[in-house]
This record gives sequence, structure tokens and C-alpha cells, in this order.
Amino acid sequence: ASLRPDATATSVCGYCSTGCGLRIHLRDGQAVGLTPETDYPVNLGMACPKGWESLRVLESADRATHPLLRNAEGELEPVSWDRALTEFCERFKAIQAAHGADSVAFLSTGQIACEEMALLGVLAKFGMGLKHGDGNTRQCMATAVTAYKESFGFDAPPFTYEDFEQSDCLVFIGANPCIGHPIMWERVLRNQHAPEVIVVDPRSTETAMAATQHLQLRPKSDLVLLYAITRQLIESGYVDHDFVAAHTTGFRELTQHVDSYTPEYAAARTGLSAEKILRAAESIGQAKAASLWWTMGVNQSYEGVRTAQAIINIALITGNIGRPGTGANSITGQCNAMGSRLWSGTTNLFGHHDYADPEHREKIAAVLDIDPGKIPDENGWSYDRIVEGIRCGKIRGLWVIATNPAHSWIHQGDARELLDKLDFLVVQDMYATTETARQADLILPAAGWGEKEGTFINSERRYGVHRRVRVAPGEALADFQIFRAIGAYWGVGEMLTEWTDPEAGFRIMQRASRGQPCDITGIENYAHLDRCGGIQWPWSEADAETKSQGTQPGESMGQYHTPRPHRRLFGNGEFFTPDRRARLIVAEPRGMPELPDADFPMLMLTGRGSVSQWHTQTRTSKSPILRELYPNEPYVELHPDDASRYAIRNGEWVEVSSRRGRAEARALVSPTVRVGQVFMAMHYEETNRLTLSHFDPYSRQPSYKNCAVRLRSI
Ligand code: SF4
Repeated sequence: ASLRPDATATSVCGYCSTGCGLRIHLRDGQAVGLTPETDYPVNLGMACPKGWESLRVLESADRATHPLLRNAEGELEPVSWDRALTEFCERFKAIQAAHGADSVAFLSTGQIACEEMALLGVLAKFGMGLKHGDGNTRQCMATAVTAYKESFGFDAPPFTYEDFEQSDCLVFIGANPCIGHPIMWERVLRNQHAPEVIVVDPRSTETAMAATQHLQLRPKSDLVLLYAITRQLIESGYVDHDFVAAHTTGFRELTQHVDSYTPEYAAARTGLSAEKILRAAESIGQAKAASLWWTMGVNQSYEGVRTAQAIINIALITGNIGRPGTGANSITGQCNAMGSRLWSGTTNLFGHHDYADPEHREKIAAVLDIDPGKIPDENGWSYDRIVEGIRCGKIRGLWVIATNPAHSWIHQGDARELLDKLDFLVVQDMYATTETARQADLILPAAGWGEKEGTFINSERRYGVHRRVRVAPGEALADFQIFRAIGAYWGVGEMLTEWTDPEAGFRIMQRASRGQPCDITGIENYAHLDRCGGIQWPWSEADAETKSQGTQPGESMGQYHTPRPHRRLFGNGEFFTPDRRARLIVAEPRGMPELPDADFPMLMLTGRGSVSQWHTQTRTSKSPILRELYPNEPYVELHPDDASRYAIRNGEWVEVSSRRGRAEARALVSPTVRVGQVFMAMHYEETNRLTLSHFDPYSRQPSYKNCAVRLRSI
């Protein structure tokens, strides 16, 4: 009876970018349980196992509860916050004094609130003078950001989740929403148009098995396939010439570029039949509303940006943009990857402004009430350049916030050695046991989702509020409070005077957004977001004014009243480029950076392994239920023919090795992968011992999806 709730609160889930609404059941203000929010416009009463288990993982025994400082014996020992913050400032300032302000960098995350990211960016870049900082969103979304900016003039995923239900042809490229974004997949299943579902993936994923067409192409031949489909759409007369003429540039160059990508040529390069390629093109061309969706299979590639733009090209030339059921749609990964893109200050200046633009620097300086001279006139280093900076001794101190590079960074063994080289490594995290925290000199204990509040932005650009429904353990503090405390100890507290709490931070963000494509000046406050079931950007004061005049009626969904019915971008065919036209961009496909050979004859694919696990398992491994749903030991999928060839039995331990390292994993013999390929899930730390350090040249996103390995029975 003591656990019977006496109140509820709505909160947005803190794992993936779907942004499901969860109803938290409270007793005396503390969470005692949760259920999916039935009316929330995102998830309509559904949640995946991770969402259901959100509260349990907060109770784990290995939560970081006190600041921990490494002592002279090399042990981490509890210290007071005063000592921790003093060490933080003295050690980093000493490094800066000896090696320059740029010798300290930070690595942030897509897992904390927008307001926390924004505060961190202001503190680190303009207060502490850390020019170089990046986020783990470089590992998941940088490619989509660059592709959209070049093609649309702004990082602007154009879709709304209703599009899943309104398409009559959905194309998923390098995406496995069935387990990666299961609630989005549920919305596909609600589609009443008997849609064609085309999956482009070298692996027979859960989504591929449910598709009407599976294009099981050779790894990294997707760019060739997309150009062949483009050529066929042009040749078969499926181009919307009015739209192309009015709203795009580059069609002639595109036509010339794809001319040589005949179905036969593409068949030879992709391993697909020409008929399959023609059928896919025909399905897209004939659809009344075709939508194209991509995730990490495209983004985590050495030619990810140009591949994403080949997807965008198809949507543009067929006029599949700005209408219900259409779009070239990048589904983001983390709960707040979009927040990181707009507010972290890492890939662009606060609110998606440009560091190089003096007017933008003036504007943001005025918003923040700081000297414009404190704002650098160029972007800092990307994640991979920070890692290289450690290698060459230019980066000597590193502050890692809510991310786990010692597990997740490509060619992880190298990353771990480099972290050990640092003069001072600070990890700010909920758990003191991550692979990265184990290497830290100082651990700052952070509150987690449910123990603090702020906003997340989901894949369809929807701001939603997550609420504090539980007390953080021990002395753990919200990241927002930690940043404010660091500001005070660093001596720049005055700069942060207005950042009194997350909602005050949200008001500052609103001012910075004014006039941007992501303008949110029309949102009243957090309560307004709660009332509406979240609000998608843009929602400017002008939008709000239009709505109050009754010209744009909203939609009611149970307790929520959304401010307007249609929330996709580019309905008027105007993009964010200076001439308002979208760009059609092409490039020659390049070869894979590491091909199988006599020594390492297999190609390793990586990806998400289960609906129940999240990234490096930092949180999800703490739930007994989630662990039950997923193997606790690493496994490697291989084809039955390869199992015979190497005399490997299902379930036995094998050694998987690459030129970078070795790992042991259980063999999972399955036809889900093709002969000559293996698959390992990213959730196990063993996987990135093997991956090859290689990057897209435009986005600097790591290419996790392909490297050469060999197998040996042990
Ligand atoms: Fe949370 Fe994503 Fe699962 Fe929804 S689909 S409950 S947002 S992890």
C-alpha cells in the first residue's frame, strides 16, 4: 500500500531519439513506477523495454555517489565537492598555463538536456577558454548534419512521425527501426496504405525480414545503388520537373553524373540483380508519397555525407518533400542528439549559428551578455582531431561528460592508450564503473534522467520536458548544477548569473533562436510544452500569433492540444539556402578503406544488437530484465557456410581478430549475414577493439561498419 501512487507526472524518455512520453507514478513526490503515456503524440501509449525499465537502472549499486579523486597510490578515493572542484580548476588551469588554453578539451554527449548542453558550451568555450570540444553525436549524427546543411542550407530533418503512417512507399537505408526505433516501427505497422517497405541493408535484419523488398547489397555499395535508382527514376519519367525547376539547383549535373549507373553496372557493383534495382526504382517512382529514412548504416561510413545526399536527391527530384508521407529523413540516435546539434556549441555556435560570422558572434554575445571577443571565430576540433591532439601532445587535459569513449571510440585500444597519456582526465557520469571512468583521475558524480529536469529534442524536432521525479543518490548533482559550480570555482560565475535553473536556460536559448530556422520564441514555458505533448521547432512568436488568430487550428489528443496540425518542413518548397533552393550534390563512390585479404578474409559489420540494450550498456546492463532479453556475452554472427569452412559450431567460443586487436565471442551461426561477412553488436566493449579508425572527410564521423577480420576456433 505504501507504493500506491498519489500523483503522476509526464516525462520524456531518456534513451533514444523517439522521445516517448512516459507517465511517472509518484508517491510523496518520488517515482514508484511508470507506464507509457497514452495520449502523447509521439508514442500513443507504447514504450519499448528500455523505457519501461527507466527507473530501475537508477538504483544500481555502482552509481557514482561522491566525487572520487585518484590519490598518490593510484586509487580513486572519495573527496568533498569543494576538493573536487578545486582540483578540477587548479589542474586544468595549470595545464593551460603550461601548454596554452587550447591544451584542455571536452567531450560531451547527446544524453543530457538542451539547457545543460547550452550551459556547458557557454561555460567551456566562453568562460574557460576551451576552444576544442565535441560530442558523442559525432559518432552518430555528424553525417546527417553536414548533408542537410549542404543540401537544405540548415540541419533540418523535415519529417514528422505521421509520415510513417502516410507513405505508400517507405525506404529504409542502413536502418533497422524494428529494434533501433521500435516505436517508430510500430507507427509503420499502423500504416493503412498497404505500403511498399524497401530495406537496403547488407544484413538480413529484423526490419529486412518484415520488408516487402530487401535489397541485400554488398557492404558499402549503397551509393552506387542510390545513383542507379536515381538514373532509373529520371529515365522512366518519374521526375517532378516543376518542383526541380522551381526549387533545386544541380539537376543537369546530377543527370550527367548518374548516366553511367545503369542497372547492369549497379548489379555488378552491388551484387543485386538488375531486376531488383528496377523494381525498387519503380516502387519509389509510382508512389503517391514516398519517404526515405536512414540511420547509422549511412551515417557511420567513410562516404556517409555523399550517400545521405544521394538519398536527399531522390526525394527532391521526385517531389517527395514537404508533403504528408514524404521526405529524406535522418532518424537521430540519442534522446537529445538534435539538442546537441543545436545547442552544444561544438559543431556550430549556440543555436546553430556560425562561429566564422561576425554578426552571429555579436548576436550571441548580446544574448549571453558577454564580450564578443570571448567567442572564437572558428569551430573547434572534431572528436577525431581531439584524439589526435592527445596523441601529439597538444591536448593534455580532457573533461568527458556522459559518454564512454574507452568503449565506443573506433579502434578503442588506441583510444584507451591515449586517455592514459593525459595529464588529467575528468569523467562526469552517473556511474563510476564505465570503461572511461576507470581511467579517470577525477570522477564527478552526476544525477541521471529522472533525477533532474530539462528539455530533449526528438527526431521529429519536438521539444519535450523530462522531469525530476526522484532524488539523486548520495552527493550526485544534476549536470546543470555541476556546470554552475565549476563556473563559480573557475571564477566566471558572473557570466552564468542568468542561468539559475534549466527553465531560465531555456529562456536564454529562446532568445538565441530568434530569426533562425529553429526559432522557438513562441513557446511560452515548460508548462506549455507539457500541455501540448511537446512542440516541434520551428515555433516562433509569429507562428504563435497566427495560431491565436485561428488560422491554424491545432489537434487534440486526449489531454494534449498540439499547436498546429502539420509539422513537416519545406511545404512551400523553400529551403534555407540563400536562394531558397535545395542543392543536388553528387560525388564518385570511393573504395572501402580496408578490404578482406588472405590474412583477414572476412568483412565485419557492426550495429545495434537488440531492442533491450543501449549503446555501451552503461545504463541498460543494470536492469536484470533487460539483460534477460539479450546475451550477456559477446557474440559474432557468421553464415553457416563460413561456419563449415572454419569448422566452427554454433555457440562455441571463437577468436575474432583484426589488424588492431582481438576479441573472444560466441559463434552465432545464422544466415542473417552473407558468406564472407560477420556481424558484431556495438554494445560489447570487445567490438571496437577490432574496428578501423577511418572517417567521412566532410563530417569527420567514424566509419564503424566495415573492417577486415579473421575467425579462429578456440
Ligand atoms: Fe524510450 Fe526510445 Fe524506447 Fe521510446 S522507443 S521508450 S524513447 S528507448
